[in-house]
Amino acid sequence: LIQIMTPLNFLGVMYREIRQALVDMDDMFDLLEQPAEVTDRPGARPLDVQGGEIVFDRVEFGYDPERPILKGLSFRVPPGETVAIVGSTGAGKSTIGRLIFRFYDVTGGAIRIDGQDLRDVTQESLHARIGVVPQDTVLFNDTVGYNIAYGRDGATQAEIEAAARAARIHDFILSLPQGYDTQVGERGLKLSGGEKQRVGIARTLLKDPPILILDEATSALDTATEADIQQELSAMGRGRSVIVIAHRLSTVADADRIVVLENGRLVEEGPHEALLARGGRYAELWSRQTMDEDLAA
Ligand code: ATP
Repeated sequence: LIQIMTPLNFLGVMYREIRQALVDMDDMFDLLEQPAEVTDRPGARPLDVQGGEIVFDRVEFGYDPERPILKGLSFRVPPGETVAIVGSTGAGKSTIGRLIFRFYDVTGGAIRIDGQDLRDVTQESLHARIGVVPQDTVLFNDTVGYNIAYGRDGATQAEIEAAARAARIHDFILSLPQGYDTQVGERGLKLSGGEKQRVGIARTLLKDPPILILDEATSALDTATEADIQQELSAMGRGRSVIVIAHRLSTVADADRIVVLENGRLVEEGPHEALLARGGRYAELWSRQTMDEDLAA
């Protein structure tokens, strides 16, 4: 038995390592210290996205059964709207993004997209319909054109350039020594944080997913670049359902709705102005952040 088990075990480890490496490359949210154990259930169907409504229905989840992270969390992203998730460090914001991408399964309740439980759809179709713009776009050691084209198999050069234009990186790419054929990444030309973000945006525009998860940058972009990128991100969000995982508050004011998470529970929900007027947790986080920014200025 041991003779059989050892190679099987080895294959299991290899599979997990390869999968991990693929995820690392994609670097969805710099999120997976552990490999996902999630697989398609027999008879799983492709996800059919109509409007792109996302529903969290009394979701329970913990990485470790002893330590619940989300405790009966319910909220809804109506089709085409933008919902920002805010809350203090460790509240479970990034976890929400990981669960929508089904890196893990919920332990209670359900997550549904257009009425379909994520556990009933194929992962391939789920991943194809959701675009993720991570905090820090990872570039492959390949050409800048390839790095954008990775958003969609079989994209034409014209489509790649259109995406780059929309992400406002086309002119910059043309100014590079070999244009779209310029090598980037660790072993090629190093791009700035803002340029990398734009490549990530172009990649996602090319993929053209109906659902977007923006894991908002915490990395230091200068204020002007950040404001520009923010514009590109909001333009990209039009006509899609968007969840913004907001580590800072400065960029959430325009969201249709803000969900305030505290200790794995929803404590407040509403548009920015209404939440400020309410004088509760969001107002407190907001004034604290504004004060910090004033101090930093
Ligand atoms: P921040 O704003 O600081 O990024 P967050 O609200 O996004 O925080 P999460 O990353 O969702 O928080 O993490 C929620 C909790 O889950 C934290 O206590 C964190 O330590 C824990 N956690 C996150 N990832 C894992 C993991 N892979 N294994 C075990 N625990 C984890």
